[in-house]
Amino acid sequence: MKAYRLTDVHTARFEDVDQPTPGVGEVLLKVAGAGVCHSDLHILHADAWQPLPMTIGHEVSGRIAELGPGVTGWDVGEPVLVYLCWGCGQCHTCASGYENYCEVYKRGIVPGPGLGYDGAMAEYVIAKARFLVPLVDLDPVDAAPLTDAGLTPYHAVDIARPKLVPTSNAVVVGVGGLGHMAVQILAATTGARVIAVDLDESKLRHAAELGAELTVPSDEQAAAHILDATDGRGAEVVFDFVGVAPTLRLAADTIAPFGQIVVAGLGRGTLPFPADGPPGGLPWGAGIVKPYGGTRADLHEVMSLARRGRIKVTVERHPLSEAPAVFEKLEAGRIPGRAVLTP
Ligand code: NAD
Ligand code: ZN
Repeated sequence: MKAYRLTDVHTARFEDVDQPTPGVGEVLLKVAGAGVCHSDLHILHADAWQPLPMTIGHEVSGRIAELGPGVTGWDVGEPVLVYLCWGCGQCHTCASGYENYCEVYKRGIVPGPGLGYDGAMAEYVIAKARFLVPLVDLDPVDAAPLTDAGLTPYHAVDIARPKLVPTSNAVVVGVGGLGHMAVQILAATTGARVIAVDLDESKLRHAAELGAELTVPSDEQAAAHILDATDGRGAEVVFDFVGVAPTLRLAADTIAPFGQIVVAGLGRGTLPFPADGPPGGLPWGAGIVKPYGGTRADLHEVMSLARRGRIKVTVERHPLSEAPAVFEKLEAGRIPGRAVLTP
């Protein structure tokens, strides 16, 4: 079968690989959709990656094609999503439900398909049966991004939920794949006023359609604009789905006292954090969180919102053969919402 793979650092290409065989506790999935995440670009640009080669694609939906030895409770043909964070399931953190912070991987990445194991930019993918979630009536292609572009912002919002009351302002910086879902999740599950920030006018218009009450271009005036719109106090929560120096600076400049900065973007920027009192440093009481993925319960909650039409991924479908062009389009910031590759 054809698979789009990271064959070396900085190198992705199609390769012919054998159709995999599911081992004990695994299933073979016929891929329905593989979402293309900005993390795939980070992986491609990274100076080191393990393992190589590796098939890319961590937003996975498909139908069960074959059950490996010992797998029960699932049927061939059943449509499923694959939960992203393949924790050990045995440590205290996994037992608490936080497989996305599994203790086995120490300070490294909790692996998953396309993030340590072969992913879904192929005709077939192997998944551990323990991480399958039934799709029920969701469209298999449109639902694939729920596993990350839905899950990660849901988890980010959940962490900050106590601060997201109707008097709060929530800034969402970067309203692309994850951010356009964050806007909808905030609108559907909190009473906070959502302020969207992006470099791109069309992304901001899209965010407004999805529930952002204010949109702010990401320029030199952005912080002043947000402070002005919040009576000088700033936002109770700032979600940064970019993570570069200018967006982290914006977060530091616009977070309210006792507010929470939630940095999900992996842009390798540095948050300026001089440890002194105002003016200059962060306001008193401000906190910083760096979330990864989400829990399995979060995925169920995301799917429930999607099933009831409260959130919807804006999907642009492309055949798998267009993967290189789609990667370029994402890099150029020209994907509205999420691209999903279909084999
Ligand atoms: P995307 O490319 O779909 O969206 C990024 C958006 O940010 C685009 O709309 C772009 O116009 C905007 N943007 C870029 N620079 C900006 C700036 N300076 N100011 C304001 N907006 C700006 O990307 P995505 O797939 O949504 O991923 C977003 C980030 O989240 C990536 O860094 C990705 O690796 C990361 N990510 C993290 C996790 C996690 O668990 N922490 C999970 C998935 C993705
Ligand atoms: Zn991702």
